Amino acid sequence: MIDLHCHLDLYPDPIKVLDEVVSSGMFVLAVTTTPSAFSGDVARFGGASRVRVAIGLHPELAHSRMSELPLLEHYISLTSYVGEVGLDGSPDFARFSKEQRKAFDLALRSSALRGGRLISIHSRGAAAEVLESLEAHPEAGVPILHWFSGRVSDLKRAIDRGCWFSFGPAAFRSASTRSMVARIPRSRVLTETDGPFAMNRDVPLRPTDVALAEAALAKIWSAPASEVRSQLVENFRDLVGNVKSGHAHDKSGRSYFDH
Ligand code: MN
Repeated sequence: MIDLHCHLDLYPDPIKVLDEVVSSGMFVLAVTTTPSAFSGDVARFGGASRVRVAIGLHPELAHSRMSELPLLEHYISLTSYVGEVGLDGSPDFARFSKEQRKAFDLALRSSALRGGRLISIHSRGAAAEVLESLEAHPEAGVPILHWFSGRVSDLKRAIDRGCWFSFGPAAFRSASTRSMVARIPRSRVLTETDGPFAMNRDVPLRPTDVALAEAALAKIWSAPASEVRSQLVENFRDLVGNVKSGHAHDKSGRSYFDH
């Protein structure tokens, strides 16, 4: 199983969650919400062979963390994985669009400068703006739009732009998301949880709950569970292969998800 967007560091019991991840043999991209969290997360989680820590600055926090921009830029030079970054146009955060844009543009510019990164991107209420930024930085790497909820026209543009998409159990509860996922080429879809922010019946999702996302995909694709699983594994290898052509290794030279 694959959880391509999980806030491993925000669980009350991160080491227990990490143990679950390791014993299940699944792959996890542990995204961060602030640059200052990155080094501690690498120390705690970086030893697990199928876990990678991404350097991020969440758009909801960007305005309060402008002082961490140099740190964001610095860590992007050291890792192949960037996230969570992006833009948020929802009512509570649209007023900070200037700061959000500054952080997101820096992340894309730095990624491009380093030959491209795998980037997990938040685009709530700002899909068109995120796509504009991606188009302005075509060398930034491989964008994965996480929990995409834009319009169908934005979706088409994102597919044409080469974006990937990750969806989790919480996203699949929405009928409009399910119909949107049906429009995405199967080869560009991946699973995530966005735990512990995202919940299932008021309980924070844990990485192993991506099984629920696989079940949702089985319905949307009218495919048996085994076929869904193998499609996702194939997608994942393809995604990682894309990054490999650029900078597919972490600081220690390990290639991503050696197995
Ligand atoms: Mn998130």
